[in-house]
Amino acid sequence: MATPTASDNSTSEPEIEKDKPTEDGKETLPRDASPPFNKPSANVIIRTADSVDFRVQQAILAEASTVFADMFSLPATGPGQKRQQREDDDQEYRDGIPVISVTESSKTMDILLRYCYPLVRPPLPTPSDFCNALVAARKYMVEHMETELKGLYPGYASQSPLSYYALASAQSGWVKEMKIAAKAALRVPFLFGYVAPEMRHMNASAYVWLQLYHGNCAAAAASAILSRGPSSHPLLPLQTLDNLDYVFFSCNHDDRFEDRVVNLVHVKRLNKIVEVESWFMEYLNALASLVLQAPLASIMGLPEIYSRKGALTMCTDCSRKVHDDVGRFTELLMEAVRKAVDGVPLQLHD
Ligand SMILES: [Zn+2]
Repeated sequence: MATPTASDNSTSEPEIEKDKPTEDGKETLPRDASPPFNKPSANVIIRTADSVDFRVQQAILAEASTVFADMFSLPATGPGQKRQQREDDDQEYRDGIPVISVTESSKTMDILLRYCYPLVRPPLPTPSDFCNALVAARKYMVEHMETELKGLYPGYASQSPLSYYALASAQSGWVKEMKIAAKAALRVPFLFGYVAPEMRHMNASAYVWLQLYHGNCAAAAASAILSRGPSSHPLLPLQTLDNLDYVFFSCNHDDRFEDRVVNLVHVKRLNKIVEVESWFMEYLNALASLVLQAPLASIMGLPEIYSRKGALTMCTDCSRKVHDDVGRFTELLMEAVRKAVDGVPLQLHD
């Protein structure tokens, strides 16, 4: 029997977050895992880095994982075939069952084994739990687990993008996962001085690449809303704006609010300098400020707030249309923002 150990697998990445040892600096006696991994009918023990023994069935693990299958390429012990402690091949036994030592924590091994066994999927409450599970799925080649976790990754990453980005950057070859998290990070501000706990695993260059990408996307997004043109007036760069059939460009009717204020704006697509309601310019500036913080931020209630403000200054007829017109225009703008952000190269390494 080849020594069935995974503890000397130097090619795998270190686990991201280990469980704390029970007694600092002292060798602890192995303790048994929770059910269902503590059954006496087991024919192999997986011993984790934090000294927890998982009693499992070789056949089940071998079906789920080719790595486990290779480890178990020896005749299994069965009932009535118990072996003695430490035989010539230096294989460790407990209760006559071979022990395999692994580098994973008991938390990660519990998750991995629950995917191998026909059990309910375990919860993955923290970014570290999720990424450790994906690391283990890849290391032990549990294909269905890897496929499932890869499918779940974008949704999980969108909840804590910076944490997932940091953890992905600590693994070699996780470029796709880094990119997914970097794109998800565009929905939230990149706050100066903010430190997610998982960022201690991230090196400085990974941090800088994300910061640059976020900043470039923010600049592109803001410029898609308002920018500077050849004239002294702000430039509306929207390439899909084929006409000015929106109330905020055209309300000049008799019953409008008498103190109506307008600004001038250069409409790039039509190459015209036109009047626009000042509240609408405020709206555009508010949107530009928002995307400058988080390029793909949710604009939440902003269209509604400014539509109401606009309705107070315009004629009765235009006031009725302002909500729909702001909505139509905002759709064009947000499409332009997405396009501008998509055009920013996502380069996360030299
Ligand atoms: Zn009007």
